[in-house]
Amino acid sequence: MTSSHIPLFAQVNTYFDKAAAHLDHPAGLLAQIKACNSVYRMQFPLKRDDGSIEVIHAWRAQHSVHRLPTKGGIRYAPQAGEDEVSGLAALMTYKCALVDVPFGGAKGAVRIDPGMYSVAELERITRRYTYELFAKNLIGPGLDVPAPDYGTGPREMAWIVDTYAALAPGMIDALGCVTGKPVTQGGVRGRAEGTGRGVYFALREACGYEEDMKALGLSAGIGGKRVVVQGLGNVGYHVAKFIQEGGGIIVGLAEREGAIFSDAGLDVERVMTHRKETKSILGFEGARDIPRSAEVLEADCDVLVPAALENVITGENVDRIRARIIVEGANGPVTADASEKLLARGTLIVPDIYANAGGVTVSYFEWVKNLSHLRFGRMEKRWEERSNEQILLGIEELTGHRFTEEARRQATAAAGEEELVNSGLEETMIAAYAELRTIQKDRGVDLRTAAFINAIGKVALAYQQRGIFP
Ligand code: NAD
Repeated sequence: MTSSHIPLFAQVNTYFDKAAAHLDHPAGLLAQIKACNSVYRMQFPLKRDDGSIEVIHAWRAQHSVHRLPTKGGIRYAPQAGEDEVSGLAALMTYKCALVDVPFGGAKGAVRIDPGMYSVAELERITRRYTYELFAKNLIGPGLDVPAPDYGTGPREMAWIVDTYAALAPGMIDALGCVTGKPVTQGGVRGRAEGTGRGVYFALREACGYEEDMKALGLSAGIGGKRVVVQGLGNVGYHVAKFIQEGGGIIVGLAEREGAIFSDAGLDVERVMTHRKETKSILGFEGARDIPRSAEVLEADCDVLVPAALENVITGENVDRIRARIIVEGANGPVTADASEKLLARGTLIVPDIYANAGGVTVSYFEWVKNLSHLRFGRMEKRWEERSNEQILLGIEELTGHRFTEEARRQATAAAGEEELVNSGLEETMIAAYAELRTIQKDRGVDLRTAAFINAIGKVALAYQQRGIFP
């Protein structure tokens, strides 16, 4: 059996075992960290628009409750199932630990293809799913806090918070029951693009070390790097946009219906507009069509960012992958056996539990905002601007020179919510990469193993300090 056919949770555990071999924690403790605490399976009815009734299958997995609340997105996908949701929940445990977000790991899934349901039906599914969780105490600001994932977004999160608030009247912290909400419904500025921005920071950090890039035959920095991105959803669209803004050349983009490639580079915004207008990514002016979408993963490029689904780089296509750097925007896009082959060839893999941790990091900021009932920066923004203005006036008086209006605007500006969120995200991604790289160099391991070593160590410490209850 190739690892492409190994279930996701087992693949995650392969990485866990590889890292655990470098640690000297007791075997029982490691087994406890690895185990999925609970999986709740639901089957509930949906009344379809034509009056017929359909049974919907759904899950919520809480992998680790060493910290509460647990946290993890909800995905709507036709192939969703218990193994996948458990594996994704495990990744959340390690991801949160890695970036010091104080949550346990969880994940939810509804086995549907959202494209096959009307908006009204999706709303009924989402509200019923929320009710099922509520009835079993599996959702709440201190219990388990979902977020968007594949196939869901701010719209679904707004339905969830509305349902939760209706079921828990008077619950003052109700807004904190879910993150990724629209900003007008208790969301935080910067969340929608947070995961993609975080993936961009991850690539920037990885490209920032000259000696690491030299070993790959590349120069330092994102500027001029030829990049292929798979998936133009929440994660893929934003990361492609930020890489382009950062000076990278987006040579390939892939969606369900096919892929496009252009040596000269693709303008992400224009591709999005083209796809919206024609309902397809194909046929974009100046680009070559690749009808079999996955083929573009094998294109000649420096950086490959799979940002759609898991198991897209497998034993089957790994030998044809040419990118020197793979940044895992999606969860689990590279199978364990493909990962080993790539590492043997010297490819740098920036692992999912670090690369896409920006999403849960900004979700954490949203949750803190909800519990504090106050927008970040609201109290201090004007005060800081006035203080900055005073300093500027003092300098002008001392030097006899007047700043230009533009310089004045820049020097006096204070951070609002979006600037603070982006700053917190950037700090998180920089600090986490520095930790990973230190472990990678000290232990002579790959980045994924370094990430697991770090995450397992942090979860183990929590157990050692707090003890095993009862
Ligand atoms: P999304 O639903 O917004 O976007 C996914 C995109 O991938 C869609 O545009 C879809 O059409 C496209 N796609 C599907 N199959 C494809 C294929 N075979 N080839 C090319 N494109 C294909 O989902 P998302 O939120 O962007 O999530 C993508 C991945 O990132 C998932 O693995 C998810 O678990 C992970 N992730 C998401 C977040 C988040 O905040 N949304 C956070 C961390 C990790």
